[in-house]
Amino acid sequence: MVSIRTGHVSITGNFRENNEDSYVVDESQRYFIVADGMGGQNAGEKASALAVELIPKQLEQLLNFDGGSKSEVVDAIDQSVDYANSEIMSLSEVDPSARNMGTTVVFLVRAGDNFYIGGVGDSRVYLLRNGNLQQLTNDHSLTQALLEAGTINEEEAKTHRYRNVLYRYLGTKDGSSGTDASEIKPEPGDRYYLCSDGVTDGIGADQIQELLVSSDDPQVIAQKLVDAALQGGSRDNITGVVVFVE
Ligand code: CA
Repeated sequence: MVSIRTGHVSITGNFRENNEDSYVVDESQRYFIVADGMGGQNAGEKASALAVELIPKQLEQLLNFDGGSKSEVVDAIDQSVDYANSEIMSLSEVDPSARNMGTTVVFLVRAGDNFYIGGVGDSRVYLLRNGNLQQLTNDHSLTQALLEAGTINEEEAKTHRYRNVLYRYLGTKDGSSGTDASEIKPEPGDRYYLCSDGVTDGIGADQIQELLVSSDDPQVIAQKLVDAALQGGSRDNITGVVVFVE
């Protein structure tokens, strides 16, 4: 198994009253999750906190972290996310203060020699390998759907008024239709970055790439990325987890 080092930072930012992002970095380095909650009052915070609490609990029960076939691992992940989705939906029905709460989720899960990366919503996972930055997750946003359909172009997508509108997230029926998890064989030198859209509201891919190689300390990089997003004008909560493969 490859050895890894991590860094992580989450801030409320300058424009929000509370931090609706949540994340988890497993002490045994088996999974890393970022969730970006939404909903009135404290509902968003609740939803993202539930996601990072319930998904690991389910993974511990359902997933063989020593490995398995891709479909076994992905099924266990999808079921874990599905469970969190159902719980969030049920709670939002019984608790008036949690009405219509929802959350995105992205994850990096290690099983055997492989990484499994995916999510629901518009939080992202990037991989920097051999000098190329690649987004490994799909945004489940209306803007991304319009982009894929060819209705709008990349430039229009950046400022499109539906760019924060999601068609899939946890807390809705559509939240449970899989996580599009992909299997990746990690390589020494890989640098992964899981982040909420507060990061990408402030900085672009070029800057993410530049900052991911700006230090040998993943915690320093996690802090630099969040600082840069804040300085870049992000008006959101800002959260990122950096994972180095040694
Ligand atoms: Ca956000």
